[in-house]
Amino acid sequence: MKVVFYDTKPYDRIWFEPMLKDAGVEVRFYEYKLSPDTAAFAKGAAAICIFVNDECGANTIEALADAGVKVILLRCSGYNNVDLNAAASRNIPVLRVPTYSPAAVAEYAMGLVLAANRKIPRAYARARVGNFSINGFLGFDLEGRTAGVIGTGQIGRKFVKICKAFDMNVVAYDKYPDNTLGVEYTTLDDLFERSDIISLHCPLTKETRHVINADAISRMKDGVIIVNTSRGALVDTSALLDGLKSRKIGGAGLDVYEEEDRYFFEDFSNEVITDDELLQLLSIPNAILSSHQAFFTEDALRAIAEVTVGNLLDYRDDRELRNRVLSENTSHASNGSKIRF
Ligand code: NAD
Repeated sequence: MKVVFYDTKPYDRIWFEPMLKDAGVEVRFYEYKLSPDTAAFAKGAAAICIFVNDECGANTIEALADAGVKVILLRCSGYNNVDLNAAASRNIPVLRVPTYSPAAVAEYAMGLVLAANRKIPRAYARARVGNFSINGFLGFDLEGRTAGVIGTGQIGRKFVKICKAFDMNVVAYDKYPDNTLGVEYTTLDDLFERSDIISLHCPLTKETRHVINADAISRMKDGVIIVNTSRGALVDTSALLDGLKSRKIGGAGLDVYEEEDRYFFEDFSNEVITDDELLQLLSIPNAILSSHQAFFTEDALRAIAEVTVGNLLDYRDDRELRNRVLSENTSHASNGSKIRF
């Protein structure tokens, strides 16, 4: 069996290469992303393996099916970039890594809260050039403040724990509340009104797209800190920029960005960035942006490789596809458990 990897970086090979070799799977690593134009390069491979910014819409899936691809492996948990209905119509299972290291992302989200609240990146930049003034760096204690957590799945619940360790009050919103979690669930509007910091941990779906929009921001406390480590399009960037400019929003920590697929994971330091909203986010002092790296720990990369290779071997050896993602039209996973979309 042969598998083709798209959008590969050197760190992807560290764990995947030896694991695939041990499993007797031939592998080809492409640096370019999957798109309708590059799908045909999978010819001869039964499987492809893709990441968050690969484009796997209906046209791509047609081209993959024509090239003989039988299974799509996602080396990530989110699957908003795959047209699941198109894959189902060509009988191509889509297998993902439902969870790898929730701690990696939750810890990073708290890092962004701290960095945005206490202005740590700016403080470091200032100190490096010998400017030891602390003007403009005033933050607030997290202890006793309220964290609003949207999405209390694997990552969200870890983030809840971290907030509790900071002696914060926590309110949460989830489409499928888990009443065993020991957290107060509330409506989105109430969460917006009560939270001093808001962290997003739900998937990107039609329902959650722009869950942070102008109306939501208008309901929030003055000086609120918004952190997004989930998917860029959960936040309406124009509304966020307006909120940051007016200081309604005290700080934003963004590990993901609506239009990130053009820029993230690549070096543009010698280029002119033409995305005006991205330029504004980079220049506004109370916004912190990183390049979709919340998952990026050794532990997470190893776990991603283990689960992805396991998914491939399940397919090859005709075993139950435990980590199959089904289309919106289908409500049950192959093992009978309900998929929470
Ligand atoms: P999960 O499936 O365990 O949890 C998602 C939660 O969101 C579930 O509790 C679900 O019920 C809830 N949800 C679904 N629809 C909702 C809605 N309409 N409104 C509110 N809540 C809703 O997923 P997870 O492992 O916790 O990951 C969460 C998200 O984090 C992923 O979807 C992915 O986009 C993102 N992620 C980002 C990185 C990164 O490096 N930045 C890494 C991994 C995951």
